[in-house]
Amino acid sequence: LRQGLDKTRRSLINQLKAIVGQGPLNQDAVMEIEALLLQADVGIEATDYIIKTLQDRLREEVLPPDQAIAYLKKILRDLLDKPIQESYSPTFVPTKDTLNIWLMTGVNGAGKTTTIGKIAHLAQKSGYKCLIGAADTFRAAAVEQVKIWGQRSAVEVIANPGQNTDPAAVVFDAITAAQARGTELLLIDTAGRLQNKKNLMEELGKIRRIVDKKAPNAQIEALLVLDATLGQNGLRQAEVFSQAAKLSGVVLTKLDGTAKGGVALAVVQQLGLPIRFIGAGEGVEDLRPFSSYEFVEALLS
Ligand code: GDP
Repeated sequence: LRQGLDKTRRSLINQLKAIVGQGPLNQDAVMEIEALLLQADVGIEATDYIIKTLQDRLREEVLPPDQAIAYLKKILRDLLDKPIQESYSPTFVPTKDTLNIWLMTGVNGAGKTTTIGKIAHLAQKSGYKCLIGAADTFRAAAVEQVKIWGQRSAVEVIANPGQNTDPAAVVFDAITAAQARGTELLLIDTAGRLQNKKNLMEELGKIRRIVDKKAPNAQIEALLVLDATLGQNGLRQAEVFSQAAKLSGVVLTKLDGTAKGGVALAVVQQLGLPIRFIGAGEGVEDLRPFSSYEFVEALLS
């Protein structure tokens, strides 16, 4: 993870350490920190919160550099963990011997298919009975790609032959199959073309309703796959998916290719959703369950 976050750490956040480590924050230091956080795509809201919390503390007492940095780390960890304390579960693993359905959403190119492949691999390796539903029926290539990932990890893929089949029908079939087989984790791929937001929302909404209705006893999660390299710009897309799919978490991909790793903080602050996984590479092993501790240490150590 440290390596994955290298760009963000080296280019910006590491400098934060130097400033915070200097002692009490004067106005210049505050402005420098603000600029650094914004450059790392932490976003205005999260940046304001971080600075204010830091200033409050440093006004009370002069902290030696080590302690000031430790306090900054704590602020970042608390921010990242906030949604979990408020309304989401701290543990994010599929429940054994139960059907867990994870609806995977996100715009094309965000890394959704790759993430599904990585999660399937991780789940299979951890002994879960896993199945994939290929409901991005709009892109024939997407179904093929999901199948390739499935084969790699020996996870079966439920798909309908032919293009433009109804994604809702695929979801229905996939849940039926999962229920019949005692599947523990069903991953559902969905379409992500943003050109037609209205259709996309309707389709996603329909899929979500089918999942809720057909599997009322399942543990349902709807994850938004977000490309970290888009930084702040990526967050605007979240709204569309949030309403239609009832999002419960975010997977942040491509952290290895960007200096915008601070966007993780913006995601949590602005969307109020926990980050559940991070992707830092194209390989099957390059996905990690998110840990605020690990993330902050990788950024600031
Ligand atoms: P989808 O359209 O959302 O399904 O996106 P894909 O899964 O096809 O991924 C789009 C591109 O991003 C592919 O070239 C992937 O290899 C790449 N990709 C996905 N996740 C990551 C990641 O964490 N790091 C890097 N560097 N590339 C990634």
